[in-house]
Amino acid sequence: MKSWTSRPVPALPGTSGTPRVHDTRTGAPEPLAARDGRASLYVCGITPYDATHMGHAATYVNFDLLHRVWRDAGHEVDYVQNVTDVDDPLLERANATGVDWRELAASQTELFRTDMTALNVLPPDHYVGATEAVDWIVTAVEGLVERGLAYRVPAGTGQDGEPAPAGDVYFDVAAADALRAEDPDAWVVGSTCRLEGDREQMLPLFTGHGGDPDRTGKRDPLDPLLWRVERPGEPAWDGGSLGAGRPGWHIECSVIALRHLPRPFTVQGGGSDLAFPHHDMGAGHSYALSGEPMAEHFVHTAMVGLDGEKMSKSKGNLVLVSALRQQGVDPAAIRVAILSHHYRTDWFWTEDLLEQSRRRLATWREAAAKPETAGADAMLEAVRAALGEDLNAPAALIAVDAWAARNLGGAAARGRAASSEDTRLARDTVEALLGIVL
Ligand SMILES: [Zn+2]
Repeated sequence: MKSWTSRPVPALPGTSGTPRVHDTRTGAPEPLAARDGRASLYVCGITPYDATHMGHAATYVNFDLLHRVWRDAGHEVDYVQNVTDVDDPLLERANATGVDWRELAASQTELFRTDMTALNVLPPDHYVGATEAVDWIVTAVEGLVERGLAYRVPAGTGQDGEPAPAGDVYFDVAAADALRAEDPDAWVVGSTCRLEGDREQMLPLFTGHGGDPDRTGKRDPLDPLLWRVERPGEPAWDGGSLGAGRPGWHIECSVIALRHLPRPFTVQGGGSDLAFPHHDMGAGHSYALSGEPMAEHFVHTAMVGLDGEKMSKSKGNLVLVSALRQQGVDPAAIRVAILSHHYRTDWFWTEDLLEQSRRRLATWREAAAKPETAGADAMLEAVRAALGEDLNAPAALIAVDAWAARNLGGAAARGRAASSEDTRLARDTVEALLGIVL
């Protein structure tokens, strides 16, 4: 589907180095290196029924930093994002509000694109809806069934005890785990997020994130759904030998990534709530389909709450970027607020934070409005260094504060000539690396 637009990225003198970023798979900082000058990124997209809340915004803005650092390092970046435009929560919302699910998905996806443009997030090269990938998914799932890595369950009862028809297809985790005997790099369940062998931790996470351990007929409670055969009143697609139905969640991302990115691609990204089961099962599907690891690194962003509470649809306390924009909030101030927290630390949205971020941005803009300033090269170096060490945006923002304070304090040229070139470089640095237009 159509992606979104963003401003062109200004070129900067010199280059960033290879960023070191915390990898969920190893539990340590790892260099996120390009191969042959290309880096590749898959960030899981939204399920379009409540467009961009602050948690989404923080995830896409933080991966946008990685995108910008890679580009500043001189790499080409191949970036793919999906839209889960058919899924249980979307259909439930559509039913509850009496809106056609397709209209709901289309309108919320459009709102998301508008939010991303407003936040100056660089667009993916491929923005792919699950509904656009169904044919590829069917082929992939048929292949897994043929190879004994997936199986159909008989009629029985689903997770909530409701009757479930015969034919739903599940990934056979044990059969996939057995591939490790042939290849030490093969995926086994939990291996991308340091949960290997820890079923006590995996099972509640699986249940809490869309899994159905109690579906009758499954070989292992952890086996994830690949294909859900048609139910009355639900949308369905031609599933070939699988029968009419719709795809499971993890297989959607695996198939889209296999289609558009190299194997392995550099980074699988998303919110920390996706590490297990979504990214891990996706990696399992991908290995089973290709015989190669899905991604070299797994990077996860922390959660965002509101005023000390977890932000959730059920609590009705979602802070939506579109609502803030409607109130006249400058999206650049939202971006400053997000970047004033490290991507791996949970944080809370508050009115005070927004007000502080507005003032901070105003100070930067006041400094950037001076025809001549000094110290931009030092600021550029400090911002590059901060982002290169685990995308430390708060430290990068402090470097911009220091530059602004120096130039607004009347001591701009002390020891060094102020120049219009410095002002331009300062603006370009903040825009190219932090995505904030001064
Ligand atoms: Zn995904």
